[in-house]
Amino acid sequence: MQKQIVLASNNSKKMKEMVDLLSPMGVRVIAQKDLDIPSVEEPFHTFLENSLAKARHASKYSGLPAIADDSGICVDALNGAPGVFSARYSGENATDESNNQKLIKALRGKENRNAHYTCVITALRSADDPEPLIAVGKFYGKVADFPSGSNGFGYDPYFIVDSVGKRAAELTPEEKNAISHRGQAMRIMREMIAKNWNW
Ligand code: IMP
Repeated sequence: MQKQIVLASNNSKKMKEMVDLLSPMGVRVIAQKDLDIPSVEEPFHTFLENSLAKARHASKYSGLPAIADDSGICVDALNGAPGVFSARYSGENATDESNNQKLIKALRGKENRNAHYTCVITALRSADDPEPLIAVGKFYGKVADFPSGSNGFGYDPYFIVDSVGKRAAELTPEEKNAISHRGQAMRIMREMIAKNWNW
């Protein structure tokens, strides 16, 4: 029977990237919303703890293996903010637009524009799996003060990728996955799953 894994995310653009990155494994990826799994709280102060909480929640509700990503942008001049609060940086009803506006305002007049995205992917065979698989990726760049590009999501129109000198939103989905924090972490995770779960 085909292997199945539940993807613990409700962010459709992030999910698309994850599904593309999982495709070489040939497993059936099931979105948690297709199983009516409600979102879980993300009360922790580290990407790792939030990622694990999401994967555990999805596995508990579904009875299936689960995989989750917790990610965000960490800005040097803001002591790593918005970090784990990236999705809700501008409040409970935050949008990508309102988050970006808040970030640009916070950086006004600051010379140091260095930032990086971090992604922590965790995978569990069951909710009580004592050996979660954990993979981390980081994607370095600078925060611009005006947007460009229409691909990607979140902070991508303002994020100038160091290695290519373009905004993340100017990259095709394939180009972004080839170098992004999520792409790096997911390639490590694919190898860990193949080796540790015998998939
Ligand atoms: P999470 O779904 O709680 O992990 O929140 C992730 C948030 O971090 C997103 O809503 C974005 O604001 C930001 N983020 C994470 N990865 C990316 C990315 O690849 N591009 C742009 N923004 C990202």
